[in-house]
Amino acid sequence: GDFNQKIDYVFKVVLIGDSAVGKTQLLARFARNEFSVDSKATIGVEFQTKTLIIDQKTVKAQIWDTAGQERYRAVTSAYYRGAVGAMLVYDMTKRQSFDHMARWLEELRSHADKNIVIMLIGNKCDLGSLRAVPTEDAQEFAQRENLFFMETSALESTNVETAFLTILTEIYRII
Ligand code: GDP
Ligand code: MG
Repeated sequence: GDFNQKIDYVFKVVLIGDSAVGKTQLLARFARNEFSVDSKATIGVEFQTKTLIIDQKTVKAQIWDTAGQERYRAVTSAYYRGAVGAMLVYDMTKRQSFDHMARWLEELRSHADKNIVIMLIGNKCDLGSLRAVPTEDAQEFAQRENLFFMETSALESTNVETAFLTILTEIYRII
């Protein structure tokens, strides 16, 4: 939650990726430490904020979640405007959601500032036995495209905080 304190920085970070990969639940986990199994498709553009301290500065993270507009090119440019960070999320049990990352990245780069910090996220790592995307494939893609990379579980809370803190700290480092 936010505290009653002056804000030094507001960082807008956008979540993108196919429908049902877990974007909304990653945000719920990070912002409110919640998770819901029957997560509904998000309606309307929405963001949530979380205030944290980085290097003794008060940083308000404003994290935007897609509005059920995950079809290719359906996300509007207003969504990307002013973003200093982006999380490209796929479901590690759905190969197609990983194969679509190149398109999402292209769309992101066509709209966003060239200095935007981007993190690739392989979500649902709690479902290890159903894995359809080897870690090495994602690492290779991330390295080639100059992205941070992490595997997460919104369900089990694995690496969620670390992923957000990593991207926010990097944004802070380069501003
Ligand atoms: P979005 O469309 O990308 O926002 O995806 P949601 O956050 O709505 O999640 C889609 C479905 O995946 C929901 O049934 C969630 O409960 C489930 N889900 C999200 N994250 C995880 C996770 O880390 N592990 C598992 N097993 N299920 C997840
Ligand atoms: Mg959603």
